Amino acid sequence: MKKRTFIKTSLLGAGGAICLMKPAELFSSPSPRHNAVPVDDTDRFTKEAMFWSPAPRGVKCLICPNECTIKEGFTGDCRNRMNSKGKLFSIAYGNPCAVHEDPVEKKPLFNFLPGTRAYSIATAGCNLACLYCQNWDISQSSPHDTRNYDLMPHQVVEEAIKNKCASIAYTYSEPITFYEYTYDTSKIARSKGIKNILVSAGYINEAPLRELARYIDAANIDLKSFSEDIYLKLNGGSLAPILNTLKILKEMKVWLEITNLVVPTWTDNMKMIEQMCNWLVTNGFSNNPLHFSRFHPQYKLTQLPATPVSTLTKCREIALKAGLHYVYIGNAPGLQAENTVCPKCKKTVVERKGFSIVSNQIVASKCKFCNAPIAGIWK
Ligand code: SF4
Repeated sequence: MKKRTFIKTSLLGAGGAICLMKPAELFSSPSPRHNAVPVDDTDRFTKEAMFWSPAPRGVKCLICPNECTIKEGFTGDCRNRMNSKGKLFSIAYGNPCAVHEDPVEKKPLFNFLPGTRAYSIATAGCNLACLYCQNWDISQSSPHDTRNYDLMPHQVVEEAIKNKCASIAYTYSEPITFYEYTYDTSKIARSKGIKNILVSAGYINEAPLRELARYIDAANIDLKSFSEDIYLKLNGGSLAPILNTLKILKEMKVWLEITNLVVPTWTDNMKMIEQMCNWLVTNGFSNNPLHFSRFHPQYKLTQLPATPVSTLTKCREIALKAGLHYVYIGNAPGLQAENTVCPKCKKTVVERKGFSIVSNQIVASKCKFCNAPIAGIWK
């Protein structure tokens, strides 16, 4: 793989320094991301975007609910899509800044092809601005500021096959912002028998989601909180489109797992956790795994402590009581909450240590002990 010639100039420009403002103040003034970077003309890593329309003062991107109107020569909020000569282009096509082979458990996907590896790619850019982002150095950067690989869609698939990966994961930053790269790679992967995994915040409009989901086999979607107000202040987004994404992925039979990051003082309200779990059960997600993930202080929330283990345990109890069948705790090794337990006989059917599989007692998608079906894609 050849590196693109762009040199990483600065990863602190988007707010990498420790922030002394209160979180709410971060969204009270225009974000420096908004149309801040004039870009060059198209090059081989640009591709005309899908889902856009001409607008009175430029072009309107229709991929995500931000629906940016982008002036000539500028990029949208995610920094990944630009208006060049009155057309919208993706500017990171075939040009990922991160390429790794990961255990599928790292996505996290626990009830999907356990023990296999996912060829994982990301470009710079994100359509949200989470104050705790663990990948902020790429998510809050432009593709022009990161060191990138030259890796076109067919090459991604070839590399995945060569490295014996069962799947390709579009992950780390936000694949919705490199939509065309994800879409084209997924189509080729599907034709070659490689599975596609979307790891996303789910902040996407319905039409592009439905088009992409035709080629996606599994998804892990962040459900970051169950409050519009918190979504706005903590993530720079909104809740309603995420709930819609969950419903559509389920309807389109994409295997779905959900991650909820429990952030002290922000998303650790047990009443809200209960409301979220009740919504999931009421809307038919009982068999979709829910991963409560432990927060560690970083990016703009370094003043907060890590989530207490007791809080995570309480969240899990609430979720199980609400009727969710597969509830895990992530980023907190040693809790025994990474194992898959049969909802009927309560025996451990998949034992994990970190991202490794210690034992698997699922036979033909059923519990070896009591023959109850275990939800997921196991082969
Ligand atoms: S994908 Fe990017 S450019 Fe398009 S609407 Fe969303 S933030 Fe704006």
